[in-house]
Parts: sequence; structure tokens; C-alpha cells
Amino acid sequence: MPNEAGFFQEVLASLEMANAHLKLPPAIYERLRTPRRSLTVSVPAQMDDGSVRFFTGYRVQYDFARGPAKGGVRYHPRVNLDEITALASLMTWKCGVVDIPFGGAKGGVACDPTKMSRTELQRLTRRYTYEISVIIGPESDIPAPDVYTDEQTMAWMMDTYSMMKGYSVPSIVTGKPVCVGGSLGRAKATSEGLVITVAEALRHLGLSLKDQRVSVLGFGKVGYNAAKILYDMGARITGLADSKGAVHNAKGLDVDAASIHKKEAGELRGFRGGDGMTVDELLAIESDILVPAALEGQINGRNVDRIRTKIVAEGANNPITNEADAVLKDKNVFLLPGILANAGGVVVSYFEWVQDLQRYFWNETEINEKLRTIMTRAFKEVLAIAEEKKTDMRTAAMVLGVKRVSDAVMARGLYP
Ligand code: GLU
Repeated sequence: MPNEAGFFQEVLASLEMANAHLKLPPAIYERLRTPRRSLTVSVPAQMDDGSVRFFTGYRVQYDFARGPAKGGVRYHPRVNLDEITALASLMTWKCGVVDIPFGGAKGGVACDPTKMSRTELQRLTRRYTYEISVIIGPESDIPAPDVYTDEQTMAWMMDTYSMMKGYSVPSIVTGKPVCVGGSLGRAKATSEGLVITVAEALRHLGLSLKDQRVSVLGFGKVGYNAAKILYDMGARITGLADSKGAVHNAKGLDVDAASIHKKEAGELRGFRGGDGMTVDELLAIESDILVPAALEGQINGRNVDRIRTKIVAEGANNPITNEADAVLKDKNVFLLPGILANAGGVVVSYFEWVQDLQRYFWNETEINEKLRTIMTRAFKEVLAIAEEKKTDMRTAAMVLGVKRVSDAVMARGLYP
């Protein structure tokens, strides 16, 4: 499912749409179009059979005018510098939209984690951490989980960095297990934040969540938790999909049962609570809310025509190509762009980092309240810009995020 124009080009096209409103000075615009620092590393790791394989890893710090660079690390065969740069750029604007004092970064290793053992993944993670340790740090760049990385990956990263320093440095990564300085509420934060923005969008459109038909594409951390929270709140989860296939039930699917099936079978296919079908077949069935929560480019020129829904909430980063985005706009779909809708993860990452630095931890209620305040404020700010500038929510979110970053860049001035 490629992005039509290359992923980073797609992000630059959104930046251009934002700049049509912001009209930044040319040098500032050029600064924001350019990644600040990109590191490519070779990561040798011993496999269980004794052989050594060489993987390619990346860490891109797109911008850090507003604070330390921040963003996840993904393990996926498709990882490449273009993708990591695009994702680091999106992190920059995302931190701007929710107004947390971070710049944007992203990292990744091109590998297939589904075909690697736990010990192989541990060795890969430790060596990757060592290789990027020249640019990461609690004051400079703080990694977190992303596609196919999790709490365990972060614990290994934290341990590796700490062993190199000679003392424990919990604030080097976020999304860690709670027992080593992780934050309560972080595991579900992206999905919690997404549901808050969906609820705001429904309120804006004069609808209530009860019985809305929801299709969720992607059944990983973000997709599963979003489906589960919406299900518990009374929405009807009519469609679920993972990378291998989809299930549909007009009366509603039992998300807990689907999750148990996925754990046992390794995939959603074969789940008996609904009709099995392809992801594209599911897309053609009408829903009220669609949550693409897998990889970028999931909804593209090839499949967008079949979509009939009212609200699309991007759980993944840029799951909709610019070409598909234009089609959804024509269909009057209310879009919640990823830099707003999935920002809950990095917001609670910010809370985790603050708690680690002050060595004082908050309870889950405090965290969820603070998350709600930030997500609701960001939604309202983006909507106000969309209405004032008579533009769509994606452009409005970019205007807000880019404005905050460009304000910081301009205030700081050019060095030397
Ligand atoms: N990987 C997540 C994202 O794309 C979270 C990043 C973070 O917490 O730093 O937003």
C-alpha cells in the first residue's frame, strides 16, 4: 500500500497547504521543510543459530526548537529513511498541536520482528540503542514505542542506556513498564486520546456515540484499545481488520472475544463472531466512524472510492494518502487527522518524562484528567482554525502545529 508520492513528499505537501495560510518567511519555511539531524546506523545482531545479521537502523530528529526531540521506534520490514523522516516530521507538528514542549523525532530498524525470537529482538534492541546513543538522551531525544515495539523494547533500551551511563536513567525512554518508571495510563493513552477526539467530533456534528457503527482497521495496540474503549462506551463495533483479513457483523462484534481469538490464532481471520472478508470488502460496508489504525497509506487512491462513513479518526500516522484525503473531503467526511487524533500517546509520554525527571508519580485519574484537558483543548483549537480559515481539519491541525514550531524558530533566531 504505497503512498502515491513518497511518504515524506506527502507530509511536505501538507506543510505547503498549511503555509498557504501561514505565509511564513521563506527561510523559516525552508527550515521547517528540512530534517535537522538524520542518523543511519548498521546494527549487527547475533541470531539464535549463532550467525550474525546486519540490520539498518535510523533515528531522525526532525526539529527540536521547542524542546527535546520525541518520537517512537518502529520495527518493520518496510522501514526506510524516507518513512522515518516523514514520521519524525509528523511528530514535530503533533507535539505542536497538543502544545507539549517537545520537538519531533522517529527511529526504526528494517527487520521482520514477527520472524525473530525474543532473544534476537533483545540483542537487536540493545545494539540499536548503543548505535543511536550518540544522539539520544533525556534532554535531547526521547524514544518511545511504535509499530511492533512495546514496553519490553523500552525496558531493554532503558537498561542499555543506563548500563552505558553507570546509573539508571528512566527518563531516556517513555512507554516503559511501570516498574521501571513508566506512567500509569500510557499503554492505552493513544486510544484514550483518539476516543476523546471522536466524542468531541460527534458532539460537534450533533450525534451521540451510542449505537454508532464503528470499523477499526488494524488490531494492534492502538486499534484494539480504541475498539475496546468505544465498545465499552456503547458504540457498535461492526468491523475489525488486521493485516490478513477482516470480520463484519451488522449487529456488533464482541471485541473481547475477537481479541482472545487473535491471541490464539495470531490473526482475526476465522473469528466466528462475524462474517470473514477481505479488508477492502469491509471498507465497502457503510459505517459511521472509521478508525484506520495500522500503517501509513492504508487508505489510498485504490480503495478510497468504496468508503461510506461520517467520521474518520486516524489512529495511525498518515494512514490516508493525500490523494485519498481529497476524495474523502469531497464526500464531506469529518476527518480527525493523526497529528490530533493519535496525539494521546505522546501526551502521556510527556507526563511520563515529567514524572521520571521529578521522581514523583501521579495516579491514573490525574493522568487521564490531564490527557482529557489537553486533547479537548487541541480539538477545539483545531476546529476553531478550520472554521475561521474555512479549511479542513487536517490543514487546520497543520496550521496550529506548524505555527507553534515556527514561532519558536523565529523567537530563537539564526545561530551564529
Ligand atoms: N509512537 C507514538 C506516536 O507516533 C508515540 C510517540 C511518543 O510517545 O514519543 O505518536
